[in-house]
Amino acid sequence: MYLDNAATSQKPQHVLDAIMEAYTTWNSNIHRGVHHLSQVATIHHEEARKAVAAFIGAKSSDEIIFTKGTTDGLNALAFSFGEAYIHEGDEIIVSGLEHHSNIVPWQMLCERKKASLKHIPLKADLSLDLEAFKGLLSEKTKLVSIAHVSNVLGTIQPVEEIIRLAHEKSIPVCIDGAQSVPHMRVNVQALDCDFLAFSGHKMYGPTGIGVLYGKREWLDKIPPHEGGGEMINHVRWSGTTYNDLPYKFEAGTPNFVGSYALHKAIEYINSIAWETIEAHEQELTAYCEQQLSAMKGVCIYGAGQPKAGVISFNLYNGKDLIHPFDVGTLLDQQGVAVRTGHHCAEPLIDAIGVPGTVRVSFGLYNDKADVDAFITALQRAQSMLM
Ligand code: PMP
Repeated sequence: MYLDNAATSQKPQHVLDAIMEAYTTWNSNIHRGVHHLSQVATIHHEEARKAVAAFIGAKSSDEIIFTKGTTDGLNALAFSFGEAYIHEGDEIIVSGLEHHSNIVPWQMLCERKKASLKHIPLKADLSLDLEAFKGLLSEKTKLVSIAHVSNVLGTIQPVEEIIRLAHEKSIPVCIDGAQSVPHMRVNVQALDCDFLAFSGHKMYGPTGIGVLYGKREWLDKIPPHEGGGEMINHVRWSGTTYNDLPYKFEAGTPNFVGSYALHKAIEYINSIAWETIEAHEQELTAYCEQQLSAMKGVCIYGAGQPKAGVISFNLYNGKDLIHPFDVGTLLDQQGVAVRTGHHCAEPLIDAIGVPGTVRVSFGLYNDKADVDAFITALQRAQSMLM
């Protein structure tokens, strides 16, 4: 029973076949050769870019930068945006429930630039305190960067409202879409976000490929984060001119097999349709939360809030918390894979005041039988631990 999809997803045959096909039939470096194989590889890579643009509703495929994943995209943005727009005394706002990937790059930037990182505090129910957010926004604020869906709680954040409030003050907003893009339709133009980062491996694609979307007007204005081949126009001893978008941000040989396989993952999702995927995962999440709530000694974090396929909880023996590692180990021994620990979101876990949580997270291939097996295994674990 694989219930650790928030960490990474399993891969459909369609994606696995694509990787084999790429390496066995047309593997060749892109954008470089006049020869046939290189041209085929280039077409596949650029078709993948167009597919990603359509998938997230970008205006143009020039706004799609291939990265290694969400972390890579956020680090690239922190560097590039930071070089152009962050100065001493400036402020960047994240939230109290971010993944470390959406905290540490900004902390590093703030340290470099003598800027400061603020965070939107959480209310008692672990939702974001939007009143406090309004208070944090000022002329010092240069960027807001927020997770669309919490990887710990699964809660869907009010990013529309956050973007609207930030834009009222002409502050750009970056969305960490690592946990939303695989589970719900995300449209960057409808959201009006300025940047969006996500990972291929969490959406049935391969590891090592991800996307940083940016509005053209921003990407045009910020410098590249890495130098090398592909990203240049001309290199002279007197200096270098940079390539057009999106190549300015893609130094070196890109992961063209990864982009091809990501395109196949998008085809796979599209073949099922968002309405079906969202309804299925919503139903599973609600069913699982209901089963968990019916058990004694279970504390669900962020219970009852809109969620996208993730539930975090802990077991209690009276007032004593049963360590999540113990629960996870006993579940594993019964063939149920869940995540335990701080889920790379230590500030949130600290705010909850626990050593970690047990997290179940669904993919489109999970079903109610998986939930039933998990609940049976959990009841057995509970009886052994109490
Ligand atoms: N942000 C969130 C909300 C995540 O859940 C994750 C992955 N757990 C990341 C960022 C980082 O993604 P990756 O490790 O694929 O770069």
